[in-house]
Amino acid sequence: MNDNNDDPLQGAGLDTLAVRAGIARTAEGEHSEPIFATSSYVFDSAAEAAARFGGESQGNVYSRYTNPTVRTFEQRMAALEGGEAAVGTASGMAAILSTAMALLKAGDHVVCSRDVFGTTTNLFARYMAKFGVDVTFVPLLDLEAWERAITPQTVMLFLETPSNPLSEVADLASLSALARASNCLLVVDNCLCTPALQTPLALGADIVIHSATKYLDGQGRCVGGAVVGSQQHMAEVETFLRTCGPTMSAFNAWVFLKGLETLRLRMDAHSTAALELANWLVQQPAVEKVYYAGLESHPGHDLAKRQQRAYGGVLSFQVRGGQAEAWQVIDATRIMSLTANLGDAKTTIVHPATTTHGRLSDEQRELAGIGRNLIRVSVGLESIEDLKADLQRGFAALG
Ligand SMILES: *Cc1c(COP(=O)(O)O)cnc(C)c1O
Repeated sequence: MNDNNDDPLQGAGLDTLAVRAGIARTAEGEHSEPIFATSSYVFDSAAEAAARFGGESQGNVYSRYTNPTVRTFEQRMAALEGGEAAVGTASGMAAILSTAMALLKAGDHVVCSRDVFGTTTNLFARYMAKFGVDVTFVPLLDLEAWERAITPQTVMLFLETPSNPLSEVADLASLSALARASNCLLVVDNCLCTPALQTPLALGADIVIHSATKYLDGQGRCVGGAVVGSQQHMAEVETFLRTCGPTMSAFNAWVFLKGLETLRLRMDAHSTAALELANWLVQQPAVEKVYYAGLESHPGHDLAKRQQRAYGGVLSFQVRGGQAEAWQVIDATRIMSLTANLGDAKTTIVHPATTTHGRLSDEQRELAGIGRNLIRVSVGLESIEDLKADLQRGFAALG
């Protein structure tokens, strides 16, 4: 920025960091962050090339290792989450995979929330298990189950809060105390809240995971991810990325940087709209139950109120009846997009039991509380009256 050494962003607020952290202006004096669309970098001399490769000289070598646009995204994410460092990845799953590959080894044991993103369950149960990492799944809210599941081999606890689609809220302070006492890392997927609403590191978590695909982008354009934590852990994650390759592209990093500039405004708007829609849904005769931590009737409400700045944009509800009725409501909507993605300016609607949670057995689905009459909505930024009218169309279709 300028030549003086003290960082003008030291102690800056979230909104300032979201707009300005990580900017390294070039000699061109560009105002917006540039996209460094380059796979490799040139050296001044053969000696300089040797020094860069040898690690004696700092600087870019190849974009699988470092890229200035990706670095700006990483520094901004670290600043927003309050972490020492961050690593950008090709997707949210690449963020989880890279963390697992960098920090776990054969013989290690992981305790994972039962209520995580379905593909995360598969990553641990199918792929990490194949390499000798054991995993035990426990109900998100059952602290005693977490405690019981921990063995001398346990090195990592993994969870999402609030959960998707039921909005269950985990007590991050208690879980980080448990992690600390058990010498485990607490890894939190902060995808649904984003740092605009919740900063798990401040509550004692060691590592934060993001699918940047969701709210960080916020407009459904790019797939990407991030890992945030200590210098030491991020150095290990970065080494995995350099070696194995699931790095973020410069173009995607740039899109996410633009998304971050409006993150807080969007998260506030999503949260306000979702709360209004949840309160409206509660009053609809066709609705049996609404799951949203912003509702005072939700069991996680008080905890969410303490732990989060607002309640986010994702809610779900049960319609009276079963799958047929849920499908009827979904098919009658004409504004909401029928897609499994979330965290978009466009409101999305989906039937979890036959899509995102379709691979679970009936019993597993029952345990997870995903009924056949459950509908999930990721509330976007359209006029709330239009969203109500859209769902009303669906309820009217039930006759
Ligand atoms: C979407 C999602 C992921 C995976 O992210 P991708 O970018 O799709 O790979 C991980 N965790 C949560 C909570 C998600 O919603």
